[in-house]
Amino acid sequence: MTATIFCRAPVALGVPATYLGFDDTDSPQGMCTTFLATLILDELRRFDLVGLPRLVRLNPNVPWKTRGNAAVCLPLGRGVGGGRICGAINGRPLKCYERGSSVDQEELLSVAAKVLERVAEFDCDKTNPGMVATNKKPSQRFYWRAVREVVPLSDVERELRAVGASWRRYKNGRGVIGAASAASWRPHDRTWEVISYRTPDRIGTKREVDRGSVIRMDHKTKSTFHNYDPGSGHVAITPASPCPVLFGIRGDSADELLRARKMIRGEPPLSWLLFLTNQGTDDHIVRCRIRDLEPGMSVRVQATVAASPRSIEGGHVIVRVSDGDEVDVAFYEPSGDLNRAARRLIPGDLVVVYGSVRDSPRSLNAEKLRVLHLAVARRKETNPLCVMCDKRMGSLGVGQGYRCKRCGARAPASAAGFAETSREIRTGWYEPPVASRRHLYRPIRRMSRDNNSNLL
Ligand code: ATP
Repeated sequence: MTATIFCRAPVALGVPATYLGFDDTDSPQGMCTTFLATLILDELRRFDLVGLPRLVRLNPNVPWKTRGNAAVCLPLGRGVGGGRICGAINGRPLKCYERGSSVDQEELLSVAAKVLERVAEFDCDKTNPGMVATNKKPSQRFYWRAVREVVPLSDVERELRAVGASWRRYKNGRGVIGAASAASWRPHDRTWEVISYRTPDRIGTKREVDRGSVIRMDHKTKSTFHNYDPGSGHVAITPASPCPVLFGIRGDSADELLRARKMIRGEPPLSWLLFLTNQGTDDHIVRCRIRDLEPGMSVRVQATVAASPRSIEGGHVIVRVSDGDEVDVAFYEPSGDLNRAARRLIPGDLVVVYGSVRDSPRSLNAEKLRVLHLAVARRKETNPLCVMCDKRMGSLGVGQGYRCKRCGARAPASAAGFAETSREIRTGWYEPPVASRRHLYRPIRRMSRDNNSNLL
């Protein structure tokens, strides 16, 4: 079996499967929707994975998300062929198959829903689980809407009825939105994440993951990303919450991730699972003009720096940019290099800003920056000469121009003598440290792989 099984999605091959989507089962105190995937797969041993489990991140700006707005979809059915190991649950190896057939969606749903009902954090106000089983995928329009907009549950349920899906909603049923959207994802750009889970006795305790082994793994693997921040020493593969995840390694090669997992030293995991994901793809970003910015959108705006950067309390920097209309862009202090680059911009620089739109005051919170063109920086060297008196004129104040003290002749501010000064910034990409990036954030090292979608 070649590596292709990890690269192709069943839908791309026209392979039938039954798609089981679920979401909104966790709370800040515990659980994780990806961990539920391992519990369901353990329970549904009579079905096979036809393609990899999918971890689908949705709109990072929805107000009711718990953490990273993740939803999961399992393509299940009867596998054909040899299959390939894509995980281990309680020590039992798990295979996924390149080809297979779909199964009875109702039967699948009723078994999987029992697992959800057993473990979902129903006591948490914000937890509103949803589960969808369907032999026909919902339109991919729902994925694109759910990763970029706020989608009403009624729209999603109408689509589920149209494709003949079966679904369960709990409490306010909001989880059905994420569950259906994960099922509707057709991977175009995609990455993988291998996640290891903790044994029950350790959940909630300090994670034992050897930092040195993470650094070694980071150095030895070419296609993994968001592992470690050399600047701060922050290990990014371990979450901060008390959830069952021990660590998750992200990357552009499924095969390399399987090797990377084995390089990590620390407490013994209970289970592990490889996911196909939309993480690191920038799918949430919409190209936009400033006049079209709406709160909650994540956008890419090309504009010219309109005023010198302003520092505000806390080390944050505000840069006003214009594309005919104007907006302030906030570069927060923890964004490191991004914040430092913003400080060095000057009026006239041409930039592309990626960020999310804040409502009040209407502004952009910068996620990353590309400097396309640098304006010439000049320093005033001499006041202009009066052509009548051959004497240097006196300044009338900043931007007010000049006047000859003898004859009263006037000259504009631009008449002074200027010298070009060097810039402390280059054209190119600037990004925040690993710890300050969103799950959907496409790292710059991934941008160069596919320049077409990033050229302006
Ligand atoms: P975790 O990342 O830990 O799994 P979470 O951050 O995903 O948690 P959830 O508990 O899943 O948070 O809550 C997100 C809720 O928002 C879900 O009910 C999901 O269906 C819903 N949701 C996700 N995206 C959208 C969207 N674009 N529009 C409306 N609702 C959405």
